[in-house]
Amino acid sequence: MKIALIAHDKKKEDMIGFVTAYKDIFAQHELFATGTTGKRIIEEVSLPVHRFHSGPLGGDQEIGAMIAKDEMDMVLFFRDPLTPQPHEPDVTALIRLADVYQVPLATNMGTAEVLVRGLKGGFMDWRKLRDN
Ligand code: PGA
Repeated sequence: MKIALIAHDKKKEDMIGFVTAYKDIFAQHELFATGTTGKRIIEEVSLPVHRFHSGPLGGDQEIGAMIAKDEMDMVLFFRDPLTPQPHEPDVTALIRLADVYQVPLATNMGTAEVLVRGLKGGFMDWRKLRDN
């Protein structure tokens, strides 16, 4: 599965801890991330990640483009709801595209836990069937 990982600045520690905790699962999938989030995962968790631009410089839109091309299977987006983001329109657009294309999306760590455990349990296998 292709999984996108995005964390706003105040959520990056959470993301690193989360990916570390589920490293065995993430290692079996293809990871994509916005620039800084991806850099930190590569350096601190030692997993390979395809990196896009940083979120404020268009990274969210690049991930959105993959969703629109049916090239992304899951998005784990640790948002910071307490800090204004200069690229809020891009964030909204990414979430909208996930809804348009029925791509599983978590916007916080609690939901991400459920999605990743579901991934391990095979609950995402319908995405493979759908490709046939
Ligand atoms: P970043 O982007 O991983 O490059 O920090 C995330 C974001 O703020 O959308």
